[in-house]
Amino acid sequence: MKRTGSFKLLTAPRQAEAFSELARLFADACNAMVPYVQEYRCWNRVTLHHLVYYQLREKFPAMGSQMVCQAVRRVADAYQTLRANEGIPKDRPVPTITFTPASVNFDHRTYSIQGETFSLFTPQGRAKVRFACGPLQKTLLATGIPKEARLIIREGIWYLNLVFDLPDPTPLAGDQAMGLDVGENNLAATSTGMVIGGGKLRHERDRHLAARRRLQSNGSLASKRKLKAISGKEQRHVRHVNHVASKAIVAQALQAGAAILRMEDLSHIRARIKAGARVRARLHRWAFRQLQHFVRYKAEAVGIKVEFVEPAYTSQTCNVCGGRGERVKHRFACSCGNLAHSDVNASRNIARFAKLSSSARGVVNRPEFAHRVRHCVVESSFL
Ligand SMILES: [Zn+2]
Repeated sequence: MKRTGSFKLLTAPRQAEAFSELARLFADACNAMVPYVQEYRCWNRVTLHHLVYYQLREKFPAMGSQMVCQAVRRVADAYQTLRANEGIPKDRPVPTITFTPASVNFDHRTYSIQGETFSLFTPQGRAKVRFACGPLQKTLLATGIPKEARLIIREGIWYLNLVFDLPDPTPLAGDQAMGLDVGENNLAATSTGMVIGGGKLRHERDRHLAARRRLQSNGSLASKRKLKAISGKEQRHVRHVNHVASKAIVAQALQAGAAILRMEDLSHIRARIKAGARVRARLHRWAFRQLQHFVRYKAEAVGIKVEFVEPAYTSQTCNVCGGRGERVKHRFACSCGNLAHSDVNASRNIARFAKLSSSARGVVNRPEFAHRVRHCVVESSFL
């Protein structure tokens, strides 16, 4: 199980300067790679490494060999994330990603831990910097194996976000599964009948998107700046909502005694949602992925096994008889008499997925949980 700890660095002014310089170099090196990514349509880390390594070493001698490798990793990761979230169509130019001097990747060759001090690579040599260590950080250091890290600056303070490999918690007993459907009509729905989102949350999201469209069509420098501010605010808002929602979802799984939590593999969402660009933008694939990521993180920490399934027709299939039903907005209706919230129906299909694929004797159609739909609206408190 991977867990990230954020360590606040107690930097001396000289060290902070060295970190700033490193971050500038790192961003410059990343940005220098972007034209290669675009020209060769290459975001595979190893291939990109071969493509750019020697040019980068020559152009950025102060980076050293290991930092150049880290920059290559950052660029490859960024493009792979972009591709997973939004896709990079074959017949379109590869978009430009601009890297800002706000963070630097590290690995075991560029950092080490000695007691309550990190030794970090900088262009001026290793910086030995003490860090603040709370109970969470102490536990991580005592029980985990430190892996990759990121040096970041937030409101003028440097942090090292360090990933730890922790022993997996004891898995919960049983084979009870809860299905989770994310993002079509509501933020999420579970096969236990919990529906999260809609209402005020969706209204707020749509308002942001309308403002964004207006500013995008404007194109002036001021509107670009405004666009960036909105996008930051929106991201923080979505992040907060996703944290609250994922907490409620995992609590629901525990309460239902589910040992397994099943979600859709979202690489299929593009095929599933055949809608216009406007609707697709509104659906915010990246927000769904983030929600799934948070759910997984929290579920695995309490011993719930997380599975991703490839759904075919989860939204049209009736969870009771397995036939094809009809959905009108939030309602799903089937000729067998099943009438359910459409996202709850979809989540029940996701929950029983393993039974569909692994049982030779046929499908166990009856959902294990009560049919009653309970609406649970999670809203941000600071809207
Ligand atoms: Zn049916």
